[in-house]
Amino acid sequence: MQWIVHVDMDAYYVSCEIRDRPELAGAPVIVGHDPEAGPSRGVVLSASYAARAKGVRSALPVSLAATRCPEAVWIAPDFEKYERTAHDIRVLLRRHAARVVPLSIDEAALEVERPDPGSVRSWAAEIQAEVLRSLRLPCSLGASPFATVAKIATDQAKPAGIRVVPPEETAAFLRPLKVTAVPGIGPKTAERLHEIAIDTVGELADAPLPVLTSVLGRSAVGWRLLARGTPEPGLAELGPDQGPVQRSMDRTLARDSRDPAVLYPLLEQMAEGLGRDLRESSLRFQSVVVRLRWSDFGQLQHGRKLPAPTEGEAVLRREALKLAATLLARERDGAQRAVRRISLGVGDLSPAPPGQRALESFLAA
Ligand SMILES: [Mg+2]
Repeated sequence: MQWIVHVDMDAYYVSCEIRDRPELAGAPVIVGHDPEAGPSRGVVLSASYAARAKGVRSALPVSLAATRCPEAVWIAPDFEKYERTAHDIRVLLRRHAARVVPLSIDEAALEVERPDPGSVRSWAAEIQAEVLRSLRLPCSLGASPFATVAKIATDQAKPAGIRVVPPEETAAFLRPLKVTAVPGIGPKTAERLHEIAIDTVGELADAPLPVLTSVLGRSAVGWRLLARGTPEPGLAELGPDQGPVQRSMDRTLARDSRDPAVLYPLLEQMAEGLGRDLRESSLRFQSVVVRLRWSDFGQLQHGRKLPAPTEGEAVLRREALKLAATLLARERDGAQRAVRRISLGVGDLSPAPPGQRALESFLAA
């Protein structure tokens, strides 16, 4: 039978750093910009489990993290390292599964044919052991015939665990979980559900649809089906057409800057990373957007739709630089703010024909 195995690296950025500094194993480590080192800025990007025990979480403001965990070891992010490693992880995963769909820098879904839950579990254990042996990184895996359930299972298995949910156990597995275990139900939605006495997935499953719709809107139907252990059939598949229709990458600068000598190389790196990602997923893009967030938190974006679906890092790099130049020129004539954060996104994704590269990628090379 067909299974989806979801793989998620544990405390990914932190684990990459601890791998390179093994003396930090078990210590409270935070990847982010140390508030002591300069004006307090930004948020925690990744926290080790020892730091999490002190209440530090990803996305927590760094100043708050420093208060909760004064003994933390701070490490500035090295995105190039994380992307290089993510590439190695995907290469490894592709040796095990015919179909690997990257979901984020440290997460992927694999499709695999296995006769029973036991053999999925031993297959997952092999992958976990090999990731640890050859990349020296911990990961967790979840398996289910349904992609969303596999992802939830991975979260439940963390850290360094494996959770296989056979189809007939789906409802029983989900029922006791908090509603926030469901991808897409965030703290705000959970708060609104709490107001109508729904805290667990089981309570979500049992609630009358009109009541749910009043809180969740149109999403109520899908979430209720999932909660009952019978997700919509589409969720069992992972075709490229089911994958994300856009992808993006963000970077927060170590220090605000409007110097092209700082911004352009960073953007080129991002274009390389994103372009490589798309190539590995056999995806083409047709639109590119660059968004700059300024030091005063305002933001400006500029995008372009290309005449045809395209692939290749070179085209992406060229388009990204052109868009950024336009944005910076506009700013030069105006407020002259510095850039705090850069995002590069691609959209209108479509599968690339196998064994054939777009003409544009040769022209641009
Ligand atoms: Mg992760």
